[in-house]
Amino acid sequence: MGEKLCLAARWAIPVVGEPIHDAVVVIDNGIIEGVYARPQFNSIYKNQQIARAEDYKEAVIMPGLINLHSHLDYSALRAFATDLPFYQWIRELMLRARDWTADKFFQSALYGARLAAFTGTSTVVDSSFSGQAAKALAQVGLRGVVGLEIFGLSDAESDNSWSNWLSRFEALSETDFAPLREALEKQTITLTVSPHAPYTVCPSLWLKAATWAKKFNLPVLAHLSESLEECQWIASGNETVHEFLTYALRVDTDSEKLKPRWAGRGLTPVKHLKNYGLLNEWLIAAHMVHSDSDDLTILAEHNVKVAHCPRSNARLKNGLAPYSKMLEHGITVGLGTDSLASNDDLSLLAEAQFALNAHRLKPGIEGKEEGEHHLPTARQLVEAMTMEAAIALKMDHLIGSLQAGKRADIAVFALPPAPLSDTEKETICPYNLLISGGARLRDLLVDGQFIVSEGKLSRN
Ligand SMILES: [Zn+2]
Repeated sequence: MGEKLCLAARWAIPVVGEPIHDAVVVIDNGIIEGVYARPQFNSIYKNQQIARAEDYKEAVIMPGLINLHSHLDYSALRAFATDLPFYQWIRELMLRARDWTADKFFQSALYGARLAAFTGTSTVVDSSFSGQAAKALAQVGLRGVVGLEIFGLSDAESDNSWSNWLSRFEALSETDFAPLREALEKQTITLTVSPHAPYTVCPSLWLKAATWAKKFNLPVLAHLSESLEECQWIASGNETVHEFLTYALRVDTDSEKLKPRWAGRGLTPVKHLKNYGLLNEWLIAAHMVHSDSDDLTILAEHNVKVAHCPRSNARLKNGLAPYSKMLEHGITVGLGTDSLASNDDLSLLAEAQFALNAHRLKPGIEGKEEGEHHLPTARQLVEAMTMEAAIALKMDHLIGSLQAGKRADIAVFALPPAPLSDTEKETICPYNLLISGGARLRDLLVDGQFIVSEGKLSRN
């Protein structure tokens, strides 16, 4: 018989179903047993032993947040090169991190994993250049899906690139770092592959990655249609991308051997991937800023998932993805912060707040017809960083909502103090309250264990 834990607060947002006022969440052995309004809880549990009870009062209890796209590796580069255009920025980033040791990557990722935990994120979906992000997440005790990044633009060299990647992957899987070994055994951390982007990974290499991932039922984490230059390069060439590949990646795409013969065919990045059979339900495509209606129809048909990263797209001046249009097409869209090298922090609540306001500033752009507004709601953004992201990961049977039987991955946010009566407080929409900027994390649980408790990490 497990020891029951009860969390009570003014609101619970189960995400699936309506918010519950004056709510109690019961957890037994790391699993959610039930979410109740207080009178219901009192009658069911009146004779039962409760090991620990927390009443957070002016707070919201909700599922732990899921960050669908990040690079914890680069967390040390906070406030880095904030004004550079995208391809100069990515070049600078590579230069800065070029000589980093594994330990430097680990310390950087650990800093990021802690910041993620402190802002209520219980699951991080991370594309990791070094693989150290997996160790950092394990160290902090977060859930994670970590894609070890792969690059390689030459079809002729894809066999080599793939076998190199496989050895790096095996080394990481067989780590002797105890917290990661334990997390891999418990499956709180999953390792997978992350083909960087269509302008850095050739179709034959991407196909090896996608085929491998499908065989093991693993998501594929990639960047897609992030910049206009990427779209132009795939369609017909682009000087900025060409220079980036030549001088940053040292790929001579003009040479006969390395010429990407699949580029320059007038296709969008989405149609290019479709051409090579690379779109499927396992692909989680970050960004999708530049996409037409055809692209969105194709993504929906292939059940590709999207990570919307509006603050990174703004910082790098890539534009605003058509979030509501994606939802209208029936695409599953989660929220991602991207890395601290292109964002102010790793808070998903802040990401959602920015998203709401950014989309409000772009009337008409998202409409089916000119001038018609399709603006996201606070509720949709809460769903994006919980249930929708869980669906994208095919983990919605485990996480993403407060429902009986799911893992107790839970975030508790204190609400901003407002001089209102209890009756007045009840009338304010908890989704809006949560995303209005004043909510502050109190506690974070993963599998029913306190990872953050009253502002302090349980593990160091
Ligand atoms: Zn990214």
